[in-house]
Amino acid sequence: MRKPIIVGNWKMNKTIAETSEFVQAVEPFVNDSADFGIAAPYLDLPCAVSLAKKLIVAAENCHFKDSGAYTGEVSVPMLEEIGVKWCIIGHSERRTMFGDTDETVNLKAKRLIEAGMTPIVCIGETEAQFDAGETEEVIKRQLNGSLADLGAENVAKLVVAYEPIWAIGTGKSADKEIAQKCCSYVRSVIKDMYGEETAEKVRIQYGGSVKPTNIKEYMAQPDIDGALIGGASLKVDSFKEIMDAVK
Ligand code: PGA
Repeated sequence: MRKPIIVGNWKMNKTIAETSEFVQAVEPFVNDSADFGIAAPYLDLPCAVSLAKKLIVAAENCHFKDSGAYTGEVSVPMLEEIGVKWCIIGHSERRTMFGDTDETVNLKAKRLIEAGMTPIVCIGETEAQFDAGETEEVIKRQLNGSLADLGAENVAKLVVAYEPIWAIGTGKSADKEIAQKCCSYVRSVIKDMYGEETAEKVRIQYGGSVKPTNIKEYMAQPDIDGALIGGASLKVDSFKEIMDAVK
């Protein structure tokens, strides 16, 4: 049985004060029915880590080098030192705006795993690729690159977030059938790469305009183990509604 995993991706939102308020409001409602977490801007992380008990606290990115001349970047040892154990990598906004590639995502995944941290590896096709019928080809290419040479045991423990780019922040969420078909395909590619046992263990999230009103239909799909949630994770009330719906 795969434990559901719901993670809010705050992106470039929330100050430290707002983080403090949110984590304190949500923490009492975190229960064992699922893993619940938030991914926050770097500056908010120490505050979130200090207030979170059961809530997972994730970074939204990391660099694959430990130190050096990489202005503006944050390394895995820096995250490790403040107690962060999870990290989103390869989000489509990082890929399209900040030059992340399958190769750099793979290096980041390797470094996180080496540190005993859990990567949430994001993949997903653009609207043009979807329209051209290239979704599976894109998913396969991204997984083959991003998850290369990680080892079956490590892949079994990480999380893959399938997020069609056309559904992110648009309100245009994917039909549950499409989301299920794509997440099932993600699992089949992982099976080809690392075998059936690993594919059955890896947790796959759907992401893209998930909200309190549609979370249940995604969670009812056999290959969807959770969600990565942007906009609807920013307000305590809507995040709590999603948490309640997953229970
Ligand atoms: P959204 O974002 O829920 O606002 O569509 C999802 C994401 O970017 O992870």
